[in-house]
Amino acid sequence: MRTPRLQVVQNPADRTQHGLRWLSTADDSIVICRSQGHNWPRLRPGKARRGIRAVPWRDGSVEIVFTCGECSTERRLVTKPGGVYDPDARYTYSYPEGYSAPKGSELNRRDAFAEVYRRTSEELLAGVRETSGQPESAASVPLPNFQAGG
Ligand SMILES: [Zn+2]
Repeated sequence: MRTPRLQVVQNPADRTQHGLRWLSTADDSIVICRSQGHNWPRLRPGKARRGIRAVPWRDGSVEIVFTCGECSTERRLVTKPGGVYDPDARYTYSYPEGYSAPKGSELNRRDAFAEVYRRTSEELLAGVRETSGQPESAASVPLPNFQAGG
């Protein structure tokens, strides 16, 4: 397969079309994260730190790397020397190959959601019966049982 050449697209409508074409060929994981956010591991007490690692720097700072469980994007936070948490530190990100949209394509989350919906709607809606346009009674749909507290 030939690698597509980088194109400079001038017209805003063309830019969007160019972006949508790119989106239609992007990996599932990329479309999922672009539409619904990354799946970051959470820092929590305990020994299991799947998707989180600490990288020591020469000056004693520690780089904490969180890896998205969906697309492998990495989010980094650097401590002060001695591993001291820095409340002013900002996250930096590095994205997997293929994650970045063509420059100027102006894609948003809704565009990505439309694409993930296109890929999933047939299966998602397979069990949905045709109705006269009115939603079925909510009472007929089993809902998860949420309880406060606990
Ligand atoms: Zn992700």
